[in-house]
Amino acid sequence: MCRNFQGIHVFFKNMSEERINNFIRAFVDEDLASGRYSQVVTRFPPEPNGYLHIGHAKSVCLNFGLARDYGGHCNLRFDDTNPVKEDVEYVGSIQEDVRWLGFDWGDRSYYASDYFEKLYECAEELIKRGHAYVCELSPEKVREYRGTLTEPGRDSPYRDRPMEENLELFRKMRAGEFREGEKFLRAKIDMASPNLNMRDPALFRIRRATHHRTGDQWLIYPMYDYAHCISDAIEGVTFSICTMEFEDHRPLYDWVLEKLDWPEPRPRQIEFARLNLEGTLMSKRKLLQLVKDKYVDGWDDPRLPTLAALRRRGVPPEAIRLFCDRIGVAKKDSWIELEWLEKAIRDDLNPKVKRAMAVLDPLKVVLKDWPQGEVETIMAPYFPDEPERMGYRELKMTKEIYIEREDFSLDPPPGFFRLAPGREARLRWSRYVRCEEAKLGPDGEPVELICSHSLEPQGPAQGKRRPAILHWVPAGLSVPALARLYDRLFSTARPTGDLEKEINPKSLVERPNCRLEPALAAAQAGETFQFERLGYFHLEKAATGSTPLIFNRVVSLKDSWAKAQKK
Ligand code: ATP
Ligand code: MG
Repeated sequence: MCRNFQGIHVFFKNMSEERINNFIRAFVDEDLASGRYSQVVTRFPPEPNGYLHIGHAKSVCLNFGLARDYGGHCNLRFDDTNPVKEDVEYVGSIQEDVRWLGFDWGDRSYYASDYFEKLYECAEELIKRGHAYVCELSPEKVREYRGTLTEPGRDSPYRDRPMEENLELFRKMRAGEFREGEKFLRAKIDMASPNLNMRDPALFRIRRATHHRTGDQWLIYPMYDYAHCISDAIEGVTFSICTMEFEDHRPLYDWVLEKLDWPEPRPRQIEFARLNLEGTLMSKRKLLQLVKDKYVDGWDDPRLPTLAALRRRGVPPEAIRLFCDRIGVAKKDSWIELEWLEKAIRDDLNPKVKRAMAVLDPLKVVLKDWPQGEVETIMAPYFPDEPERMGYRELKMTKEIYIEREDFSLDPPPGFFRLAPGREARLRWSRYVRCEEAKLGPDGEPVELICSHSLEPQGPAQGKRRPAILHWVPAGLSVPALARLYDRLFSTARPTGDLEKEINPKSLVERPNCRLEPALAAAQAGETFQFERLGYFHLEKAATGSTPLIFNRVVSLKDSWAKAQKK
């Protein structure tokens, strides 16, 4: 199932072993055993510039999971160093999503902006120690001086300014005496370093923007790389876990703390591969475009990979945690097939939810010998494997019932074993029916089937094969509903972000004429059921007035997409 993840089948069978073998845990064990750290402190550091998605969930589960398993703690830190992109709306949604996933940061919620003063002081300290200078090169010149991967950079002409002058200029930067882009503070490291991140990177730049928390108090803002290591160190973080693209930034992370003589133990940065999920995209920029250009209906549109969307679709947080456990953590970038998420959802929901019957696309069946007006009540278990666990509901058999349109074929192709003229099928929890006549509409499509019925099969109309079992609902007593069937948002497995070409036009199919078994009239919003043969469905809205119930399909029962692709 998962092409790029070698050994996944093995670890599936032996999950506890995989958890122990996870390379990050090995580092943690090593550092605890050597006495480098006496406890585990991690952090989840979202930038509040978008909604959390399933990729973030991997990081949340990893950071909070480590803290939980080692009896340490995990901080929630908003990395709000960029005043232009952050938004309070996102702060609230991030908190809600982390809580929903089942994690608790207690009173350990922080903002990088809380440390602006300390970050400023540290920058002065670096200047005083001769490790930072104020540069006046324009952005174009900075690029020109930086060199390339194959050529070393050149020293800025401002590199050797006296310390006192740097200090004075930096203070003036803070006081607002310069324009944006006129000056910036940079580290004095090595313009010939093979690592471009070490070629005198920027530490502070001038930004005349209002920050969502500090307002107009600051005119200079720290760069992410500089702020991140110090924020970790201030909070006593021991393991600063981030995605692979920061691997080349690690020397800078360590350099800043070392040059500040930050007391040991300093945090240790560990990188892991980010999650890429087939059939979807996780770039915040692309997600924003999908929402803004109305490809989807808001951040919680159930087709998106955001946690808000998965929640609305009816995916339980336990399923997401199970998925994150199963995919594990590795260093190598990989694409995980969507089926892994779907399988985790099924495995989580399967033992938890009631079974019920719904017909998405009704075709009327009239039982010709059934007395008009007679109603037979059938007690059917909600969970047939363990009937006592979830109890029973009443099914109502009447003269007119609905079956699924696709369970009938006028001219059955080979391999079609459901209902057809002259054929017999069994109604779930009830009797056998044989199609005696199909009434057709003006377009030649069946509109009503006339059937005989019996308690035992009537005969070998289909050879030795046992009649197929069909789901059904009583016509008059059934409950109307709208069902939304979701498919993957992109028709390519590994979308590149070309929305025009890659969006799956059938990612949402609405079934407005659904009919549900009578017991579902009492279903509550938020409840999930397995509709027999159709999948898991989550009730988004109970019926109000003339608006019917609205069900979202969380996941189908089988992996139909992979099969369709193979055809
Ligand atoms: P951007 O889209 O701006 O690059 P980001 O995806 O890095 O942002 P952040 O808000 O900075 O988003 O992410 C918070 C944390 O979640 C970071 O530690 C980041 O490494 C982690 N994270 C983000 N995306 C993924 C992913 N796809 N898989 C695993 N972890 C992720
Ligand atoms: Mg980021």
